[in-house]
Amino acid sequence: MKSFFLGSAVVLALGACAAQTAPVAVADLAPPLTSDPVTPAAVAVPNNILLADWTGPYGGVPPWDQVKPELFDEAYAFAIAELEREAAATANNPEAPTFANTIEAMERGGARLDQVGSVFGVMTDNMSTPAYQALDKEWSPKLSAAFDRITLDPKLFARVETLYNQRDSLGLDAKQMRVLTRTYDGFVRRGAKLTPEEKTQVSAINQELASAFSDFNSRLLADESTFIQASAAEMAGVPADVRNAGAEVAKAKALPAGTFAVRNTRSAVDPVLSFASNRALRQKVWQAFVNRGDNNNANDTNALIAKIVKLRADRAHLLGYKTHADLRMQDTMAKTPARAMDLMMRVWPAAVKRVGEEVADMKPFATREGVRTIEPWDYRYFQEKVRKAKFDLSQDEIKPYFGLSNLVEGMFWSAEQLYDLKFKENSGTVPVWDPDIRTFDVSNAKTGKNIGLLYFDTYSREGKRSGAWATGYRDSSGLMGSRPKLVSNNNNFTKPGPGEPVLITLDDATTLFHEFGHAIHGLLTDVYYPSLGGSQRDFVEYPSQVNENWLLTRPVLERFAKHYKTGAPMPASLLKKIEASDTFNQGFATVEYLSSALVDMKLHTREDGVVDVDAFEKATLAELGMPREMVMRHRLPQFGHLFSSDSYSAGYYSYLWSETMDADTWAAFEESGDPFNRTIADKFRTFLLVTGNETDRAEAYRQFRGRDPDVTALLKRRGFPVN
Ligand SMILES: [Zn+2]
Repeated sequence: MKSFFLGSAVVLALGACAAQTAPVAVADLAPPLTSDPVTPAAVAVPNNILLADWTGPYGGVPPWDQVKPELFDEAYAFAIAELEREAAATANNPEAPTFANTIEAMERGGARLDQVGSVFGVMTDNMSTPAYQALDKEWSPKLSAAFDRITLDPKLFARVETLYNQRDSLGLDAKQMRVLTRTYDGFVRRGAKLTPEEKTQVSAINQELASAFSDFNSRLLADESTFIQASAAEMAGVPADVRNAGAEVAKAKALPAGTFAVRNTRSAVDPVLSFASNRALRQKVWQAFVNRGDNNNANDTNALIAKIVKLRADRAHLLGYKTHADLRMQDTMAKTPARAMDLMMRVWPAAVKRVGEEVADMKPFATREGVRTIEPWDYRYFQEKVRKAKFDLSQDEIKPYFGLSNLVEGMFWSAEQLYDLKFKENSGTVPVWDPDIRTFDVSNAKTGKNIGLLYFDTYSREGKRSGAWATGYRDSSGLMGSRPKLVSNNNNFTKPGPGEPVLITLDDATTLFHEFGHAIHGLLTDVYYPSLGGSQRDFVEYPSQVNENWLLTRPVLERFAKHYKTGAPMPASLLKKIEASDTFNQGFATVEYLSSALVDMKLHTREDGVVDVDAFEKATLAELGMPREMVMRHRLPQFGHLFSSDSYSAGYYSYLWSETMDADTWAAFEESGDPFNRTIADKFRTFLLVTGNETDRAEAYRQFRGRDPDVTALLKRRGFPVN
């Protein structure tokens, strides 16, 4: 039941590159204080593969190859009822509440529902079809209602509250105290102290929101399943591998021979915007992409978003908070919207100023091509011209050295140097949900002990949501017993034509390492209580961002950035050019991200929650002084982080918060002169990765670095003035 009692503590892999980290077991913890939780009477489990214990290697793996939509109604109904029976048995226990019979009992609950949910998550995120969308729409509100019935049950809360009030005399250790406190806070945040009428209102809002999120997801997916048709002439300048992929999509869509189809997703659109010399095509592709969800048709999300924002504000008021952001930020490192805003506004002016300089750099190139005013669909294109002129470097020049399989080897190698994690491919030995999925056995390189299994879902496909993310399908904890962890990385690289290599851009390679950082975090987490295995919202992107740093280190590039045809290592001159250009275009990248994060926070700090979405977005950007040559990375009508679930709402700032720690952490490696410094890596692992959420995260950081994170490292990395 960990995932809902603690609210934002456990990340549910919705929206962004969110990670659902999976903790491991430890043996050196105090045994339970007493141990006789009441177990509910056994009920026969229906014969349904989704409800059966997983079988096969790794202590059992999900039966992906046998999953069908028609199995979920029965599976969800049974697993939810089972969770409710478990919770009722705890609530109605005739014995006085103890930590073991109440808190630990809840920590143990919901195992089967977790299992069904893990499988269903893949079906909606990676393999969505109308049947799964219908199931999601049906079951999201039902799940939400069931969680509310449990957290809003006065008898259950009374036991938690009794323990909380006696907490100092219960003889709890630090971890137990943290679980108890967080459980209590989670109940209160969900409405446990409200009147029965207010509880009914909150629960109704939760269900309405769950259903709205599900609607938002299907509309966005529908718009991302569209494509932009282009002729060979229009595709001039676009790299061959991207053109080939576009031809494959066109073939699949039965378009006339010789035409191309550009999918309406970021990974398909960005290379066209960067390289197509045909300005009209750039404009067409850009408009389709930035207007996802905003076309005044059946997939339009504006009204839905207005409804979500209003419901969130109403719920915050019922729960005693001024705004949705105040509610959401209670369980974060930043704690308040004001502190998050402070950090963002410290960086914003320098980023805007840098965009001005970048645009000025582009002007001569634009003029040469007869472009008087640089429009948003021109930015990436002229930015490539400037990159070429300034650094004699083209994205296209790097790509032949960035073969996906080599880079995957490179990130595995790094993890072994830093953390003794050994990855060995075993594709074909466990069931997968699509033949393209690769799997890897994970073990400790020194002891040989198995740690888990990594699923690697690389390519974009219809029915898979865009972006990149990491998840865990099964965690491990001291309480529940040590077991192999099942984690996954999901990307949206374009599948190459038959026999073609997968060559990726520097951006995509960074994303690859980022998601792998989430997987490493999940694999190394080693906690006793399952609910302490997750991360706070503004911490979760920290380990993943740190992991990005190893991509552009000499040891990795020299070993793994090899030419896909000749196998020759990346020339030293190219390596130097990449290093020289490392703060190039940071104005664009920072403004693109920060404008989205600022609009998110401003939207969710509106007290009344009443909003005309389009007008709000325009007015807020104008007030912030958004450069006219750019758009937000995620415009509101397609901002999945905010509207696919509550998880990243009032939380998109988290990437910057995490990056502050990341840049300061990387500075420690740099100061040592060795990017693979084992002493630093050991401290990072011990204090910050292994501990999950067992200790206060700010305190853990101080243990690692001897002080709080210093924001100047972040400003320096982005090439902005420090004062
Ligand atoms: Zn991430």
